[in-house]
Amino acid sequence: MSTAEQNKIRAEEVLARCKRLASFSEDDGSTRRTFLSPPMRDCHREIGEWLTAAGAEVTVDAAGNLRGFYAGAQSPSPRLLLGSHLDTVPKAGAYDGVLGVILAVALLEALGGRRLPFGIEVIGFSEEEGVRFATPFIGSRALVGRLDEETLNREDTNGISIRRAIELFGLCPTEIPLAALGDDTLAYLEFHIEQGPVLESLGQPLGVVEAVAGQTRMEFLFLGRANHAGTTPMHLRHDAMTAAAEWIVAVERTARGIDGLVATVGQVEARPGAINVIAGEARVTLDVRHQADDIRSRAVEALIQLAEEIAAVRGLTLRRSVLLNEKTIAMDTFLVGEIAEAIRKTGCEVRRMVSGAGHDAMILAEKVPSAMIFLRTPGGISHDPAESVMTEDVSKALACGLQLLDQLANCSKFQKRMCRA
Ligand SMILES: [Zn+2]
Repeated sequence: MSTAEQNKIRAEEVLARCKRLASFSEDDGSTRRTFLSPPMRDCHREIGEWLTAAGAEVTVDAAGNLRGFYAGAQSPSPRLLLGSHLDTVPKAGAYDGVLGVILAVALLEALGGRRLPFGIEVIGFSEEEGVRFATPFIGSRALVGRLDEETLNREDTNGISIRRAIELFGLCPTEIPLAALGDDTLAYLEFHIEQGPVLESLGQPLGVVEAVAGQTRMEFLFLGRANHAGTTPMHLRHDAMTAAAEWIVAVERTARGIDGLVATVGQVEARPGAINVIAGEARVTLDVRHQADDIRSRAVEALIQLAEEIAAVRGLTLRRSVLLNEKTIAMDTFLVGEIAEAIRKTGCEVRRMVSGAGHDAMILAEKVPSAMIFLRTPGGISHDPAESVMTEDVSKALACGLQLLDQLANCSKFQKRMCRA
């Protein structure tokens, strides 16, 4: 059987496994698997069996991350991390996160017992989406030593803290420091669906991520005066809702005028919220992303200025607060180059891209050289049951992954890094 035929069979198996894991859900009829929920245990058991059969030693760390270590040629040998997340949003698709973990399992299987100069640790992160505790990256933050007391005390809507959820799953929160990366860690690589339309629009199966875009999240409160909808003439109103509406349209116009900028108002809340009352308060959110931090900062300043002007003209006051300010995280240039080479050798064109969405790789990048490979996402659809991925693309991703492992195993530059590790 040719390598291409083998990869196709493996790709079909990868997709079948992702679909099977999608049935491990907190909800009937759709996939929802949040941090250390009961179906996560089923997920661990199933993937753990595949990892064990592929020759890996399987553990679950105290932050609930599933970890399978496939030893290198020598003992001890440094390790390369391959992974993604196992949690999902509500009404999720079958591939966001999970695909990256299952592709890593398939790469171990394809090695078929062959040992590399480094070990491979497959990681299924316990939490990336931020659904249960409204804070993302619980799993990957444990690896970089950033899962602090304040985070552990956060509670879900049932009043269960992250610490308690860890205990209820049978794990020990005091052992979280043991989950941190050791100094034998070489690099982190993550396969992930693009979750956007770019690769599809170019007709390309794979892309290499150069950076994860920085983002600013803010909340704006337009404060006017609530009043009777029938008795207050139009020129005597201080309508918070229309001010917000005017600004929301201006946000869209501004973003369209700046190359690569995306800006979104995803939430609007008007008070008192009655059909016959002029809105006295309008709370709106803002999400701004760009690969260049200075362009993002300037755009945010301009949008604040616009909100202030609109509020002033209408006789309103404006309050605002910053909820999140994350810089752009560059992926490791050496790894990006190696991935580009592997994609080329797989017979595909290389598309370098910036991820608009946050990923575990941007957390890992704080401590270890990290990079990502995107797979084309049909229709750009994700976070939806209609999310899909093509067998041929998964097959290409496997070929690319095997090529990449060979390159890294034979690369003197990577070997030098290993010596320093
Ligand atoms: Zn994801």
